[in-house]
Amino acid sequence: MKNRSVKLDLVDRTNSRAVLSCIEVGGKSSRADIAKRLGLSRTTVSTIAGRLIRAGLVGECEADTGGRGRPGIPLTVTGDRWYALGAEYHSRRWIFAVTDLGGKVVENHFRIVKGSGPEGFLDGLAEGIAEVRNKSPGPLLPAVGIGAPGLVDCESGVILRADDLGWRNVPLRERIEGETGLPVFVLNRYRAGGLAEARFGAGRGVHGLVYIGIGTGISAAFVCDGALMHGANYSAGEIGHVIMDPSGPLCGCGKHGCLHALASGTALVRMAAEGPAGKGSMGSLERIIAEGEEISGEAVCREAARGDSFALDCLSRAAAYLGIAVANIITTYNPDKIVLGGPVGHTGEPLLGLVRQEAARWAMDHPLGVVRIETGTLGEYTGALGAACLVLDRKLDLVLGKDRG
Ligand SMILES: [Zn+2]
Repeated sequence: MKNRSVKLDLVDRTNSRAVLSCIEVGGKSSRADIAKRLGLSRTTVSTIAGRLIRAGLVGECEADTGGRGRPGIPLTVTGDRWYALGAEYHSRRWIFAVTDLGGKVVENHFRIVKGSGPEGFLDGLAEGIAEVRNKSPGPLLPAVGIGAPGLVDCESGVILRADDLGWRNVPLRERIEGETGLPVFVLNRYRAGGLAEARFGAGRGVHGLVYIGIGTGISAAFVCDGALMHGANYSAGEIGHVIMDPSGPLCGCGKHGCLHALASGTALVRMAAEGPAGKGSMGSLERIIAEGEEISGEAVCREAARGDSFALDCLSRAAAYLGIAVANIITTYNPDKIVLGGPVGHTGEPLLGLVRQEAARWAMDHPLGVVRIETGTLGEYTGALGAACLVLDRKLDLVLGKDRG
């Protein structure tokens, strides 16, 4: 790609970003419109527009003459010249999504990981990337976005700890950059999920959004006007380790009574394995366990939705704690919307209703009056799409020759 050799100085780069974002946000706009809106000269905008067109990020569309004089040719974002690759890990499985420049998922891919340790996780990712690169309908932006479990240092791309999996210091970025030769951008998987819902799903156009991902672990994304809050060192949103009961069960982090230990998919599995308090006729969840089938948090939700009373009891106990955590977020952060996602959070009812009910018991009335609590709308690809956003956000630098911005 010859345009990759183009190096831009800082002013040029800033102006190019502004022109591109003007076209993305403002829809079809002529060079003259863009110049006026950004306060740049028409020559500058024309030079930048020419470069963006040659790079395949922007295209010209049919001018609407409207019967008056010579119209400016409108510019628009091109959908099919470049694609972005994102991946997310859940329950021993990598989920890959290829998106167009508008964030539409055009291809997907899955890869089951061998074992439960970080080696199989890294091997599965490297192999999956190689496979999905062959499935892309067009050229991929030269980078990979990854939604990883645990607390991720986004600068080094290291998973510092994933307490639900018992991992420490997994050098994700270094390993995958070494194998693929591509720049790799890493984010916690639920932060990636929150980014995707904020841009394309249930959080679109929402000012204050909190996305709560519930799977084998629990984590959240705090998003304000589409911008993800990282915190001082990338742990903003780690609500899984908020202490709910100091005398509660031991968490993987070494403390007792974390939300994760009381309300995650892992906690649901533990409750299911402990069995019901009283003796009665065996319900569907108990039968599944008695048959030796491996149980998951999603399975507990599914059996609760089917009316199994023991599964519903497990889910109600977890939702009681989730509801308190959600109420505390409502009281302190005053969000417009809270979106539940992740493999367990995505299951909808009865979890959603239970969390709404519990949150309403404990939150302060004033912020409770405006907040909406819903389930995410993007389904299985949420986190992979959010990870692809890390690549889409850098498309200008990736195409025009600077790989990290
Ligand atoms: Zn913990």
